Amino acid sequence: MTDLPERPPAELDFDKPTIARAYDALLGGKDNFAADRALADHAVQHIPGLRESAVENRKVLVRGIRYLAGEAGMDQFLDLGSGLPTMENTHQVAQRENPDARVAYVDIDPLVSVHGRALLAENGNTRVTVGDVRDPAAILADPAVTALLDFSRPAVVMLVGMLHYLSPDVADDVVAAYRDVLAPGSHLFVTSLVDTGLPQQQELARIARESLEEGWARTPAEIEFHFGDFALVEPGVTYTALWRPDSPVDPQNLAPGEQLGMAGIARKT
Ligand code: SAM
Repeated sequence: MTDLPERPPAELDFDKPTIARAYDALLGGKDNFAADRALADHAVQHIPGLRESAVENRKVLVRGIRYLAGEAGMDQFLDLGSGLPTMENTHQVAQRENPDARVAYVDIDPLVSVHGRALLAENGNTRVTVGDVRDPAAILADPAVTALLDFSRPAVVMLVGMLHYLSPDVADDVVAAYRDVLAPGSHLFVTSLVDTGLPQQQELARIARESLEEGWARTPAEIEFHFGDFALVEPGVTYTALWRPDSPVDPQNLAPGEQLGMAGIARKT
C-alpha cells in the first residue's frame, strides 16, 4: 500500500492545461483532457519534432535508469517531477535490474498521485507523493520519501524533463539542496530543454511559460552547471538521443525532435 499525502491534493481543474497532462498528451497517453490536448497540438504546430522529442526523453530516462540501477549499482531513486504513469516507469526499469530498487515519485500534479497510487498499490518498494520540487526541505522530509529512501547511503536524484520548469531565480539553490543531501557515490540525473541557438528551443520555452507559467531553455553549460562538483559519467551532457544510445546515432544528422533536449548523469565523489 502507498501512503496518503500529508496535505490535501490541489484542486483538479480540467479546463486549464497542466504540464503533466500536456506531456501525457504529447506521448499519446490517455490521462489528459481537451485543454491539455489543445496545448499539445498548438505546440506541435509550432515546434517541429516536439512529439518525437517527448518520446526521446522517455527513452533516455529508460537508458539512464538501466545504467544507474545496473552498472552504477544504485538502488534508491527520488524521481522529481515524475509525470503521469506511462510505459516503462522508473521503478519498472530499475527493478528489472535490481528487484530491491526503491523509488519515491514526486510530482506537483494531483492527478499523478491518483494514477500513481493505483499503479503502485501492489509494489511495496515505491511511493508517490504530491509535492513542489522547489521546496526541497518539504520534499526531503515528506513521509513518503523518508519511509523509503535512506540518504546516508548512495541514492539517485532525478530531474528528468523537469529542470526546464525551474526558473533561473530558484534553480541554483533548489538543485544544490538536493545535491547537498546526497551521500558520496550518489548520482544526479538531469534532462532539460536546451538552448544551442536553434529558434525552436526558445520558442518552446516561450509557449510553455505562456500556457504553463514555467519553461526555460538552458545552454549546455547552464545545464552542466547544475551538476556542481559531481563527476559527469560518459558521454557527459549531450542531446538525449546521443546519451548511450542502444544503436549508433549520427550526431551530424539529428532530426528536429532530437535537438530539443539534453541529458546528463553525474556522480558525487
Ligand atoms: N519525469 C517525467 C519524464 O521525463 O518523462 C515527466 C516529465 S514532465 C515533462 C514534467 C513533470 O514535472 C510534470 O509531471 C509536472 O507536473 C512536474 N513538475 C513541474 N514543476 C514541478 C514542481 N515545481 N514540483 C513538482 N513537479 C513539477
